[in-house]
Amino acid sequence: MPVTVLFAAKSERWKEYEHPLRTALAEAGVDAELVTRAAPETVDYIVYSPNSGIEDFRPFTRLKAVLNLWAGVEDVVGNPTLNVPLARMVDDEGLTQGMVEWVTGHVLRHHLGMDAHILGQDGLWRAGAPPLASDRRVTILGLGALGAACGKALAGLGFPVTGWSRSEKRIEGIDCLSGPQGVNSALARADILVLLLPLTAQTENLIDAARLARLPEGAVLINPGRGALIDDAALIAALDAGHLAHATLDVFREEPLPPDHPFWPHPKVTVTPHIASETRAPSAARVIADNIRRAEAGEPMRHLVDRERGY
Ligand code: NAP
Repeated sequence: MPVTVLFAAKSERWKEYEHPLRTALAEAGVDAELVTRAAPETVDYIVYSPNSGIEDFRPFTRLKAVLNLWAGVEDVVGNPTLNVPLARMVDDEGLTQGMVEWVTGHVLRHHLGMDAHILGQDGLWRAGAPPLASDRRVTILGLGALGAACGKALAGLGFPVTGWSRSEKRIEGIDCLSGPQGVNSALARADILVLLLPLTAQTENLIDAARLARLPEGAVLINPGRGALIDDAALIAALDAGHLAHATLDVFREEPLPPDHPFWPHPKVTVTPHIASETRAPSAARVIADNIRRAEAGEPMRHLVDRERGY
């Protein structure tokens, strides 16, 4: 008997995902009926985006797992009506590759001082070559699927990379720190700081005035993680005081960022509209199909969220 897979995301996403998901499920050997509507009690798996409108999972009495289309799960992880395994999106070929490219691009922008030439074509011959990557220390908070990949790419370019995570790690090319003590050392060596932490009760407002003060003078902050990792007012104060040189922000407490938000006109802030990396249907469909195949075969599913930890 086929399993029923409900695709629950914004309706415009169906066009993008239908073919890749059907193909990937067939290639994985999963006998599935892929639908966008179904009586809840007939659904085995939900391919889920938190903005799909489904908030009460109780009517899905046969549900075996929820497969999140996004890496971040803060909008669903605490849902008390969800009592089945929740997988988040980890997709090396698509989501991770996109993040590596975005982070590398923005690190290089600041490292090379590209703005001086791109924005300053005013007849002045500005001599002086930028330093080498080996002279610019990068710290990445969060060494998960995305942080570790970005760290390895930056280390490969020659940047001395420090990373910080909850648990201890060993990753080639990255000086790995962990725990509450590790964060202060990691910040102290962050000429460029990249935030790739999930939003949890422990990480919310982690980058407050005290932690910003630990950054070296003239540091740059790049945040493709989540907006609420940062105390916005403290960030603006640190930029205004000249302690921080620039902040490139992709994610915000409120999205879209309201037109009157002080980040928009701030000369030391670059706003990008939550585009650092998105889930790419063809490769993400293969990740989802493989996870459903695993569940049906009684094998452990991959990328399961720890509901206690919150990510
Ligand atoms: P992940 O694999 O779950 O990695 C999370 C990392 O953060 C892990 O290294 C984890 O430590 C660390 N961490 C979590 N809580 C911590 C704490 N309290 N103290 C220290 N370290 C902590 O997540 P991911 O796939 O890399 O994604 C990271 C985040 O990126 C997502 O949650 C999402 O918010 C964001 N994101 C943004 C975009 C965008 O377009 N802007 C796209 C995708 C994802 P352990 O390794 O010890 O568990």
